[in-house]
Formats: sequence, C-alpha cells, structure tokens
Amino acid sequence: MPPQLVCFDCDSTLSAIEGIDELARLRGPDVFAQVERMTREAMDGGIALEEIFARRLELIRPHQDELRHIGELYVRHIEPEATDTLSRLRAEGWTPVIVSGGFRQAIFPLARHLGIERVEAVDIFFHDDGTYHNFGRDCPTARARGKNAVIAALKAELHPARTVMVGDGASDMETSPDVDLFVGFGRYAMREKVKTGAGAFILRLGELPSLLQPAYFAGIHSASPTH
Ligand SMILES: [Mg+2]
Repeated sequence: MPPQLVCFDCDSTLSAIEGIDELARLRGPDVFAQVERMTREAMDGGIALEEIFARRLELIRPHQDELRHIGELYVRHIEPEATDTLSRLRAEGWTPVIVSGGFRQAIFPLARHLGIERVEAVDIFFHDDGTYHNFGRDCPTARARGKNAVIAALKAELHPARTVMVGDGASDMETSPDVDLFVGFGRYAMREKVKTGAGAFILRLGELPSLLQPAYFAGIHSASPTH
C-alpha cells in the first residue's frame, strides 16, 4: 500500500522552542534581538529565508556542543501531545517525516524520541575541535520555498496516497499547493495569515488524528470544483 505522509515542522510545532533563537540567546541580548527579528520577519513572510540564513549563522557560529544543547531543549519542550498523536497516526497508516529549516543534528534527538526516521533539515559542519565551519548550502530548507522542494522530492520517491503538512509558519503554509492538506498549528505561535490561509487550523497536536480521516479528504475533493 502507498504510504500516507504527514510532514511536521519542528520549531514551534513538535517542540515549543525556536532552535535558532535559543542558539542566539547564548550570544547575549544584542545578537538575540537581531536574530529574533530576522526570524520573525522570515516566518511572517516579510523577507526571503535565504537572505537571512547565512547572516544568522555568521552572527552565532554555533559550536557542536551548543547544537547538542539545543537538541536537549527540543526534547525537554516537546509538544505534550506529540508522542501520543504520532502513535495514533502510525496506527492509522500515516508515516511521519520532519521537514524543517532548523538544524539536522539538533533535531535528531527529538526525532529519535518520537520514532521519526526521516529528518529533512539543514546540516551544520564543524571543524575537528567542534567550532563552526559552514552549513549545508545545498539543503533545500535553507532557501525560500525549500519545504516545497522537499515535499516534491518525497512525493517522487515514495508516491504517497496522501500528503499533509503541519506547521506554524509562512514557509509551512507555502507548501499548500503541493500537499493535500496544510494544517496550521497555533499552540506556540499564532499567525493571523496562517490561521486564515490554512486548510485547517489546530491548537493541539492531539486534534490531528480525528482530522486526518478518509472522510475529511473525501470532503475536500467533493467540495472542489468539478470543471
Ligand atoms: Mg515552526
């Protein structure tokens, strides 16, 4: 049977934190304020992601140990219904994937915790002593519409019967034309644009299993114009 894919954003969706903001916080209030502003503008859709991606990392230059620390924070601040929701979705034939503009090594512990095997995110490269070297400039999610590119590649590879994206930000909602349903998530960050533009909008991950029922998708299709 073809899989049904449910793609999750990570920051402010599977976990309450924004990894990049937590990294910036380690550099003091000035860097934090700058990075937070850039992140917010990107998530609200005001500026293109690739414009700020390199700039944020050059400001922070995270050490390998600091990325590990962010990994612990993701798990500590996990969305309280995430674990239960994922086991219910799996039981109903959904395969979860993380599609994130965050950093792959920091997200792995949360993915492992949730039993999610596939993480599409941005690699960070370190020198041998653990200091920052570079980021994966060819990782799609470091660019605008990168989540669309990842979803297109997943669909070409896995031929899913259905694809759903769940997330809080503009880059998540951008995937709408490429998925069967985009579910906006407002537990940690409530964005008016996402709330009004999403196919569905939820405040707890626990609302997902009852939403992602075959009848719901049948309804979507019967509601669309036939000519
Ligand atoms: Mg997010």
